[in-house]
Amino acid sequence: MTETNTHPSQCAGCGVKLQTERSDKVGYVPAAALERDPVICQRCFRIKNYNEASTLTVDQNEFLRLLNQVGNTKSLVVHIVDIFDFEGSLISGLQRFIGGNPVVLVVNKIDLLPKLVNHNKIVNWVQRQAKEQGLKVVEVVLCSAKQNVGFDRVLAALDQHRNGRDIYVVGSTNVGKSTLINRLIRDYSDLDNELTVSQYPGTTLDAVRIPIDDGSSIIDTPGIVYEHRLTELVTKKDLQKLMPTREIKPIVFQLNERQSIFFGALARFDFVQGERQSFTFYASNALDLHRTKLEKADQLYEEHKGELLAPPSKEDLDKLPKWTKHAIRIPRGGQKDVYISGLGWVKANAEVGAEIVVHAPKGVKVIMRESLI
Ligand code: GDP
Repeated sequence: MTETNTHPSQCAGCGVKLQTERSDKVGYVPAAALERDPVICQRCFRIKNYNEASTLTVDQNEFLRLLNQVGNTKSLVVHIVDIFDFEGSLISGLQRFIGGNPVVLVVNKIDLLPKLVNHNKIVNWVQRQAKEQGLKVVEVVLCSAKQNVGFDRVLAALDQHRNGRDIYVVGSTNVGKSTLINRLIRDYSDLDNELTVSQYPGTTLDAVRIPIDDGSSIIDTPGIVYEHRLTELVTKKDLQKLMPTREIKPIVFQLNERQSIFFGALARFDFVQGERQSFTFYASNALDLHRTKLEKADQLYEEHKGELLAPPSKEDLDKLPKWTKHAIRIPRGGQKDVYISGLGWVKANAEVGAEIVVHAPKGVKVIMRESLI
């Protein structure tokens, strides 16, 4: 948008460059709202009027620019990750960008894990994984923003580590950042303080500042889009099937070597070689898992993709990148998961090893990891 005599080019709330084209991107303002005085972007408008954060996204470069600026402040960084897509939702290199600022890692959506799972073990697992990724965290807190579980612990962690500093909330898309921020706003903020005076000095930051009672702020940043997450590649409709909405009921398959399991037409898990053993599949229960023989798998896919093997449906198949193969050797004696970002994971039997091949849309992160459960 170009600046005109009558309309400002920046949001009077957060300072972002205004645009009237894309409602899912930062700086969006409906054209009609340009007539208001002052002009604020839709995100600031919603926070101000409805106490509600909204989900906006930016690409990696923009996001890293923003993170770098956090490095120049004295803040507490709250990084929200999704336990269902831990490796996919973790911001890589976060520590490098935010300097010496402490990080609280809030692990959301724990309601998706089977009820019997020991939470201390999950916390230990998260701590180990974070450390491996070079992320030093002052605390790991498990919660479910949707079901309001563990939220008091989140608040306690913020109080303990904040020391009067601003709180930057960062995360990739769909981790539940808006859901959590909205709870924070309700419990923490003093919205009588006008958002309109919270512009950053001299920058166009895509962050929204929410004043809290002691003069500091919670700063909501846009979600970073990682294309290595299958959830970013599928259509909105298929996303509903991919993202579990309630406790996952794992499905156990006793497989002989040379058997395959299809996750709809989204991915395929081949047990290529090894002793007969059980594999436990953790994925959305809205997704159909289909077993077949490895010899028949290619043909089955060609003949039934988009129909028996769905999602995606026939018309959406071409929107996904073509599959690539990932060969994974699971060592004997290790507790391992084969993890497919955004789709879930398969826990292998600890006693015997296995040769696995995963077929997944090109670019999707597929790795072997220490078992989560
Ligand atoms: P954002 O993109 O990070 O701001 O994420 P949203 O807050 O918009 O949430 C993304 C999706 O995750 C929505 O479908 C939410 O309903 C869902 N969600 C958020 N928090 C939780 C949670 O604690 N548990 C579960 N199961 N789903 C959640």
